[in-house]
Amino acid sequence: MKKEKVSDFRYDTGPARIPWSAVGEKIKFQDIMEILKFLIPPKKDKVKKYRTQIKRVEKEIKKLIENSNLAGKLTLGEKVAQLEEEVKKFLNCKYAVFLTNATAGFEIAYKFADLKPGDEVIAPAITFIATISYPLSIGAKVVLADIDPRTLNMDPEDVARKVTKKTKVIVPVHIGGYPCDMSAIMDIAKKFNIVVLEDAAHAFGAVYEGKMIGTIGHFGAFSFHEVKNITSLGEGGILVTNEDVGREFPKARFVGFNIENPIPLWLYDVTALKWRGDYFAPGNHSATEIQAVALLSQMKRLDKIIEKRRKAAEYLNERFKNIKGIITPPLDDEKIKSTHHLYLFQVDPNLLNGDIQKVKEKMAEKGITQIPHFAPLYRFSIMKQLGYDTEKIKETCPNAEEVFLHRFTHLPLYDFKKEDLKYMADSIIEIIKEMQK
Ligand SMILES: *Cc1c(COP(=O)(O)O)cnc(C)c1O
Repeated sequence: MKKEKVSDFRYDTGPARIPWSAVGEKIKFQDIMEILKFLIPPKKDKVKKYRTQIKRVEKEIKKLIENSNLAGKLTLGEKVAQLEEEVKKFLNCKYAVFLTNATAGFEIAYKFADLKPGDEVIAPAITFIATISYPLSIGAKVVLADIDPRTLNMDPEDVARKVTKKTKVIVPVHIGGYPCDMSAIMDIAKKFNIVVLEDAAHAFGAVYEGKMIGTIGHFGAFSFHEVKNITSLGEGGILVTNEDVGREFPKARFVGFNIENPIPLWLYDVTALKWRGDYFAPGNHSATEIQAVALLSQMKRLDKIIEKRRKAAEYLNERFKNIKGIITPPLDDEKIKSTHHLYLFQVDPNLLNGDIQKVKEKMAEKGITQIPHFAPLYRFSIMKQLGYDTEKIKETCPNAEEVFLHRFTHLPLYDFKKEDLKYMADSIIEIIKEMQK
């Protein structure tokens, strides 16, 4: 019998009397009930009713199991493969792998880019630390570019100023789902033969000049952590590329496991990988089937989710546009479609008595949530602890420092009742009017 070869670590669960999958524990009734109860816990005042209902559900599920084959394949099976196919179609790109998180995707991309200790990576001053975790971990030098205060995205002019002979990777981050100025960044990268890795953690479904964000640079990674627009049960990431090296993604995901060309007398080989430069040893970043099921399900409503968020952002812009002291963020146009992951709220402190810090205090008093994810990276202890001269870096990022101290916060855009969105707008307008000079 000719065995079907797959490029991944997918045990053959075929027609054998004793299948491969017989070596591990499977999902059983008890697990399903525990997962169900975790996902659908009782309301405090409804515990009694909940118990009776759960009993009924238990009975039904038991009956259901009698007519079913319980899931046998829990990782890197059909669902992961299906998800990767759907993502490729959605993004119109050649290669995609589903991973534990976006940070794992960055790591794989950095390794393909042959990033080594002493090489330089240019990342924006304002992002989440995960963007640069891998370079920091291996002792590559992170150079922080200043941001464009209109979007908080990387300022290509500052990137151009900071490129050196040692620059190996540029990492544009599409903050809040609003696309970076990719054509300017790609021009710089081409000129100096630098790899571009898009941190598209917020930007699954964003569009820039007709191209899907994440597919414009050499690599792009998306996050499906629980705080993003859609999630694969709390954690998850997808790395994509149009470069031929994407063929190696399945091996890069799982320790270099190579089932296509096994060594003699064995099922598989293990290979190192390379693209630009030297071989590297891949890690293990596999995500699970059930995570893929969840993400496939959420992908079906992604359009609606983005649409809802877009409308909320438009509403806020409309409410804020004539308020002295508020700077509204750019929204979609012919060139750009954001995922509206976060609403970039900014004030002009020159027109107010006080700045964003004061506004944030007053927002907190009114119960308005802000999203404090993105302080300038040079402010975190890790940079100093790893030997960076953070004071000096700060001086090279005046816009990042100014917006952080005095101008911006992020607001949520989802999932709101209309009246809550209105409450947020009303309260903020009230606060700003009280503070106007
Ligand atoms: C969430 C986030 C990440 C990390 O994503 P994970 O999937 O949690 O690894 C990276 N960059 C930015 C800008 C993020 O917000």
